[in-house]
Order: sequence, then C-alpha cells, then structure tokens
Amino acid sequence: DRQVLSARGVTVRFYTYAGVVHAVTDAYLDVYEGESVALVGETGSGKSVFTKALTGLIDPPGRIESGSVLFRRRDGRVVDLLKLSPEEVREIRGDEISYVFQDPSSALDPLYTAGDHIAETITEHRGVPKGDALREAVSLLRDVMIPNPEVRVKNYPHELSGGMRQRVVIATAIANKPRLLIADEPTTNLDVTVQAQILDLLKDLRSKYGMSLLLITHNLGVVAETADRVYVMYGGRIAETADVYTVFESPAHPYTQLLLRSVPNPLKKIERLESIPGTVPNLIDMKPGCPFAPRCPFAMEVCSREDPPRVDLGGGHVVHCWLHAKR
Ligand code: SF4
Ligand code: MG
Repeated sequence: DRQVLSARGVTVRFYTYAGVVHAVTDAYLDVYEGESVALVGETGSGKSVFTKALTGLIDPPGRIESGSVLFRRRDGRVVDLLKLSPEEVREIRGDEISYVFQDPSSALDPLYTAGDHIAETITEHRGVPKGDALREAVSLLRDVMIPNPEVRVKNYPHELSGGMRQRVVIATAIANKPRLLIADEPTTNLDVTVQAQILDLLKDLRSKYGMSLLLITHNLGVVAETADRVYVMYGGRIAETADVYTVFESPAHPYTQLLLRSVPNPLKKIERLESIPGTVPNLIDMKPGCPFAPRCPFAMEVCSREDPPRVDLGGGHVVHCWLHAKR
C-alpha cells in the first residue's frame, strides 16, 4: 500500500490578543491509497484546524509554525504541500485533494445553480468548456444519487433540501476525481436518516472513484461504520492511532477509553462524544505535559510536567501516554 498523504510535525498557532492559542501541536497523519481514515475528537480538539493546515488553509492570525505534508500527486511526483507556493496548492486543492465541510449552505453561492457550482470547478481545473462541464455535472449529480439530475442541475440552492445541498457539495468535490477527499463533519447538520445516506454515499464513491477518504468527526458511530484506521486527537495533539477494530476493542489511551465508555455501544448506535467529565483544555499559553492530565483518572506527577512519550504498541497502534512508557 502506498501513501497518498503523510503529515509530520504539524504545528499551528493563533496569535490572538488573549494569548497564543496552541491549536495543533506536532500532529501527524498518514492516508494510504483507497483507505478511509477517521480523525476523531471533541469540538476544540484541533481536528478541523489540522486538516485545513494540510493544504495550507490557515488564515491570520493563525500560522503554520512547522511540519511537512507529503502528497503523492496523480503523476506520481511527491510534493510537500507546506513548501509549495499558494498558486501551486490552489491547483491541487479542488482537484487532487478536495474538501467537504459541515455546512452545505455556506459552501454554495445562492446565486449559482447546482450545475454552475460543479461546472465551475471542472472548467477551472481541467479547462473543459462550460457546455461540456454542465453535461458532466448532470452525470455527477446522478453519481451522488440525486433524482432527476437533468432538472436538478438547474436548481438554485434554496430549491434543494439540506441533504441534496450536501450531495451537490460532494458532487463538486469529486468532479475532478480527487485522490483524497477530506470531509469535515459532513453529516452533522443533517437529520439522522439523511446522515446515514450521505455516509453510505461517501463509502460508495470511495470505491467507485478509487479515492482515499479522510473523515473528521466527533461521532463514534460514524467512525465504526466508515473508517479503516482512526486517529484520536485531544488538546491539539494526536493521542492515539490504530486500526478501527483495535480502537474499539483495546484502546490504550485513557481519553479513548473514556470516549468509548461514554457511548453504550458505538458499533450499534450513533452517539456523540460530549458526555465526558471536565472541559476541553484551554489551548492558550499551554504548559508542557499531557493536555489530558486535568481530566485523566490515571494522571501521575510526570504527566503535568513532561510531554507524554510516543509509544509504539505494534501493528500500527501508537499511543502518546506515560502509562505505556517503558521503564
Ligand atoms: Fe493520563 Fe498521564 Fe496518560 Fe496523559 S500521559 S493520558 S495524564 S496517564
Ligand atoms: Mg470542527
């Protein structure tokens, strides 16, 4: 298996009047070809900022302080997305890597039809004339299971339901056959039955288009149903990573264990992560040590003094925690 994307040491800070926000610290992630990877964490864990930073989508007062994001392009060349010029990254974004965000309404311009949105990205990245691009748009709408695509292609966003709007956003995201689709909470604003349909759609599209999927979610049900491998993020850092089975059956990080205990049966029921005692850490002017220490039932003296070590448990299972440190 070959990597499509490999991020290392990504650190993002926001320089605000209240202080320096350590949004993402030394985060890493690999995505292999054809794989579905979930990045899990509570609101404020840094998961959205990390995934935006992968293609340099960080605006002031935010700054990517360090890191590398190697990406294997369609032609086989490997580039560091954090070293390319903004123009070069723009060429890749929306083409070889594309994003689907939480709120479909903000991704769509009310003055443009479904077809306009899709055709625009096709024309921009592949130089296809508008008429041909609109014909492609109809077949893309069919791929995302929108009924009567010939009619819907002429609809404006307000003429579509929330679920259909998200399908249009997904059609736009896959229009250029990306190697990697990054979906940040793509179902959060939709009702439960539509959520399941959108997840099924993403799974189907992944195999049909032969792309990799990076799914950002706070929902363990989504993880259980869609991911091959999982990264758990806490306090702007990766806490643990393993294949999905290991994460649910033998989680090693106290935070992951707590997450799973807060959900009666993550494999059967769609639940949210918000029921853990304590609050998410304040990421302003962070001190060294484990960010989970104030909430951790196993916290030791060393935990609030020194950053937790990276411990390789084998088989791709890695945990960042003093409990597992070899002594
Ligand atoms: Fe808990 Fe310490 Fe492990 Fe952090 S490093 S999760 S505080 S035991
Ligand atoms: Mg988010």
